Amino acid sequence: MAYELPQPFTGRHLIDGAWVTGRETFDRVSPSHGTVVSTSSKGGPEETDAAIKAARRAFDAGIWSRISGRERAAVLLRVADLIEANVDRIALQETLESGKPISQSKGEVAGAADLWRYAAALARTSQGDSHNTLGSDMLGVVVKDPIGVVSVITPWNFPFWILSQKLPFALAAGCTVVVKPSEMTPSSTVMMGELLMQAGLPAGVCNIVLGYGDPVGSLKSTHPDVDMVTFTGSTAVGKLITKAASDTLKKVALELGGKNPQVIFPDADLENAADAVTFGVYFNVGQCCNSSSRIIVHEDIAEDFVARVVALSKKVKFGDPLDPTTQVGAIVTPEHNARIDGYVQEAVAAGARLELGGAYLDVEGLGDQFYQPTVISSVSADMAVAREEVFGPVLSVLTFRTLDDAIALTNDSEYGLSAGVWSESVHTCLEFARRAQAGTVWTNTWMDGYPELAFGGMKQSGTGREIGKYGFEEFLEVKSVVMRVGRDSR
Ligand code: NAD
Repeated sequence: MAYELPQPFTGRHLIDGAWVTGRETFDRVSPSHGTVVSTSSKGGPEETDAAIKAARRAFDAGIWSRISGRERAAVLLRVADLIEANVDRIALQETLESGKPISQSKGEVAGAADLWRYAAALARTSQGDSHNTLGSDMLGVVVKDPIGVVSVITPWNFPFWILSQKLPFALAAGCTVVVKPSEMTPSSTVMMGELLMQAGLPAGVCNIVLGYGDPVGSLKSTHPDVDMVTFTGSTAVGKLITKAASDTLKKVALELGGKNPQVIFPDADLENAADAVTFGVYFNVGQCCNSSSRIIVHEDIAEDFVARVVALSKKVKFGDPLDPTTQVGAIVTPEHNARIDGYVQEAVAAGARLELGGAYLDVEGLGDQFYQPTVISSVSADMAVAREEVFGPVLSVLTFRTLDDAIALTNDSEYGLSAGVWSESVHTCLEFARRAQAGTVWTNTWMDGYPELAFGGMKQSGTGREIGKYGFEEFLEVKSVVMRVGRDSR
């Protein structure tokens, strides 16, 4: 290694505008470099309760919920500028904690600024409607109110981006917030807290508690002062949160796992499709809710298409995540690496064919918390590798004969996050888009996202939507105001 790592980052809770050091701490060991890269205060019931109460007080006092959208937007726009000024610092820490390539961390952090700017615009657009047809002396208006105190719980795979899919939209709506980042990647959320304070967000409006799902996450899901939980993470934890939140009937919005297919028809531009498939499976080391880990390719072109993907996979640059040219970095934990290998070995033992990879990867000077780019063909739809989130650089290839077969295979999943179709026929693409059970359908592209649209999943991939006006509306309550306005009937 021809460089020195920075000193470990120290993370503290942000409660009511003050940085609070906990009695206990926890360390994060870098997946790629094997050394401690952050030491964070470990939250317990006391800090969690204090943070929620601070958010409640701030909400009820109206210091944020009752100011104008213009004033809220001004703060969010300042945050966007500050994010752009701090990309390198935040991205470096995110790569050290997650193992993802530094070029992808920089893209993630810089791209998040646009979400804050879009949310700032929405802060000035909270609109309802009016009803002038209720009788000569009656007027009805439907207005939107901020939902209240929002608990934000985020995963480790895109900590800064996912925080920015939630936080600016909740703040734009006038909510106050308590954030818990993943215990594996806490620091970029603390850095966000610093930027919020610099941007002039009033104390108590955004609070951060660091620590584990139990107790911090679970307490936030049961606390009576929390009005809504917005969660991104595994489907298993999403179900726990839903159950925990049911006693207080708080609103729950969930962004969960996916097993996302890309369907390749013989008339597709195969070069572009192979590029997109290769990108889609290795992006963020395959540890991505939108990973295209399932390819459904027409029988007639399957051999050719697999050969193209294997050839491209051999060119993908694996290795040190801090090297700016690296495209695929480390796996988040040794346990997860073993889980990935387990899926691959099980599929091969059941008759699938290993076209490439299928083993741990030792990177010189950094150890073996890496996995080889792996392509498996002759996969059948009932194999775990084709049904479950592998969350690693592993591509499963299935085949189809007709459009109906392709759609049936696409929808044969408990998940419904995203799906893609590659064909030069607009009819094929549209029919697929209309019948695919997925929150996002890409045609002749993959993983393009825009703050203007909506993101979320069907089936066990989640409930609710993020970003765009639909994401913003999740943080608003609808209220009818009925007014007697004339003297006609008196
Ligand atoms: P995870 O579910 O293990 O953890 C997510 C967060 O939940 C962490 O902050 C964790 O501490 C917390 N948590 C754990 N137990 C909890 C509990 N009982 N109550 C409340 N909070 C609790 O997920 P992960 O491993 O961090 O992330 C990977 C998963 O996230 C994958 O399944 C992936 O598909 C999913 N994901 C989904 C999207 C999406 O937008 N749909 C985006 C990214 C990741």
